[in-house]
Amino acid sequence: MSHLSLYRRFRPETFDKIVRQEHVVRILKNQIASGAVGHAYLFTGPRGTGKTTIARIFARAVNCEHPSDGSPCGTCPVCRALSEGSLDIVEIDAASNNGVNEMRDLREKVQYPPVTGRYKVYIVDEVHMLTDAAFNALLKTLEEPPAHAIFILATTEPQKIPATILSRCMRLDFKLIPEEDLEKHLSGILDEIGKPYDREAVAAIARAGAGSDRDMLSIAEACVVYADRLTYDAVCAVLGAADFHETAKLVRAMLTGDHTASIAALEGILAEGKAVGVLLKDILQLLNRVTVAKTCKNAEKLLALPGRLFSVVKEIADAAEGSAVLRATEILIRTENELRFVSSPRIALETAVLRVSRPEAERDVSALLVRIDKLERELAELKSAPVSAPVSAAPAPAPAPAATQTDGSADDDWQFPTEEPVFAEAYFSDEPLPAAPLPAPSVQPKTPAPAVKAEPSAPAAQTVPAATAEDGKTENMTAEGAYGKFMRTLRKTSRSGVLFTMCSDLAACYEGETLVLYTDSDTICAALNREEHRKIMADVFAQIGVSSFEVKRRGAAPAARDAVEELKNNFRDYPVEIK
Ligand SMILES: [Zn+2]
Repeated sequence: MSHLSLYRRFRPETFDKIVRQEHVVRILKNQIASGAVGHAYLFTGPRGTGKTTIARIFARAVNCEHPSDGSPCGTCPVCRALSEGSLDIVEIDAASNNGVNEMRDLREKVQYPPVTGRYKVYIVDEVHMLTDAAFNALLKTLEEPPAHAIFILATTEPQKIPATILSRCMRLDFKLIPEEDLEKHLSGILDEIGKPYDREAVAAIARAGAGSDRDMLSIAEACVVYADRLTYDAVCAVLGAADFHETAKLVRAMLTGDHTASIAALEGILAEGKAVGVLLKDILQLLNRVTVAKTCKNAEKLLALPGRLFSVVKEIADAAEGSAVLRATEILIRTENELRFVSSPRIALETAVLRVSRPEAERDVSALLVRIDKLERELAELKSAPVSAPVSAAPAPAPAPAATQTDGSADDDWQFPTEEPVFAEAYFSDEPLPAAPLPAPSVQPKTPAPAVKAEPSAPAAQTVPAATAEDGKTENMTAEGAYGKFMRTLRKTSRSGVLFTMCSDLAACYEGETLVLYTDSDTICAALNREEHRKIMADVFAQIGVSSFEVKRRGAAPAARDAVEELKNNFRDYPVEIK
């Protein structure tokens, strides 16, 4: 005997064996029982939900001599004749017979009475594929059908059926089959063929079936021959899913904002030869599981994952903010939609992964929500932490440029805010700074102590207000103090949030009598040197008693200057002149 696929081998012969679709089965059974059978039906619904199977059972049931509970008995002469193939049950695939000639042919033949039973049943599959002319020819038949004819039209796309046809049919809608029922069906079949299996494996196949019994059974078919025992790993291998732990690593990095790790993980998976589209599906599936693990109490049961995999999902769910998971899902779904329009899917995915893992680089509401959630969590952790190091928790460290950045790449991250930046308040509040009295005496530029270079890059790290520092550092603090006072005054007097923000990330030091403000960004340097900004800054500096200031780009220049200072120091007795 030739090999029969699982789907065909276990195709139900009676209504009782049908998986779900009770509403359809009940209507048909009642019609058979009462003898009030209609002459035209339209079965609609997703593929693999049992439309053709039910149509066949119905076709035999209406002809059976002793139907039992609406189903064909299978033993009477008519049932036997029909099961051996009969002219009384005609199946037409409209996808390949979609012309007007086939329908005219049908109209002629339908006039002949049935051979064995009471009814001739025409099952027209994929009926939406008919041409307009064919629909018209079919319509003629439906308008005046002979008493012995029953038409069952099946389609996955009812919206393509002309209204004139629809109105002559009894429409029955088939639903997607729930995973639970698919699971039960599959485990029943596996028991019957004596294949050992793990529950998680069956659940995974049922999920992959996505509501379609036929799809599920074709996947199961491949899995059954893949290994002696049906395990979760075997199913993943057959489905071509990316390694779970690799995907988990990627998703964890994305959700916790570690963009370096997420790109590395992504490249790793793609290097294995994984298709971008498939990987994207895997990521979305994992994100969905993380959402379930985060929100549902009985997540472990719902997800039906092996214990070790569930603990990975749970761990990611605990580490990630809910808003971050939601945002990641939204971005990736959008990417999935766009994938077919882009010439390089890989770049699209990389960009999406970067966007997800760097909410700080975006300004839409969802990105801001993620950042707020993160801050709130950190705040809660700080509050719940034991009163440990007051130094680190002290408010308002001295104006610390670059401290506002989460990483070193100040230039890349810079964006011009359009509103008053709230975050900067903390850094430049009027609260007294921890120890050193910055203000009054030190504002005036004095004695440019040549010994120590006011290293523009240092102050970021040196936030400790070192009143007792060596003399050179005192000079540095003075510049810092002037800068701090400048920022406080600027906040009070200027309405320009942009200017305030641009100024909030500068390093200050004295060069001779001039207070020099250094920035890492060309853009900010140019912007601050524009006349309108310079004027405001000059006003503010005048208020606090600084008469001369410059804004410079931090770069090679200070290094050269430092070198000159060093040279002068080393050769104090010689006049050093630099040209
Ligand atoms: Zn029968």
